[in-house]
Amino acid sequence: MRKVPLRMCISCREMLAKTDLTRVVKSQNCEVSLDEKGNKQGRGAYLCKKPECYTKAVKSNAFNRALKTKIPESIFEEIRV
Ligand SMILES: [Zn+2]
Repeated sequence: MRKVPLRMCISCREMLAKTDLTRVVKSQNCEVSLDEKGNKQGRGAYLCKKPECYTKAVKSNAFNRALKTKIPESIFEEIRV
């Protein structure tokens, strides 16, 4: 069996399989997008699929901190659980 890499949820800080997390990525030209396939270039931030983690991440600006940029509202809508 192939080992799935683990990543940390920016909200609950649990380590989970990359495939169980939503990845938001900031590209080199500072564009923020949702990375559905997990293979986009750039700095990524991961969020697990628990609704409370989504709510907490939005409220605490965890994505802004993790990616050091302002996350567009549209991204939050795309990743809403
Ligand atoms: Zn979480």
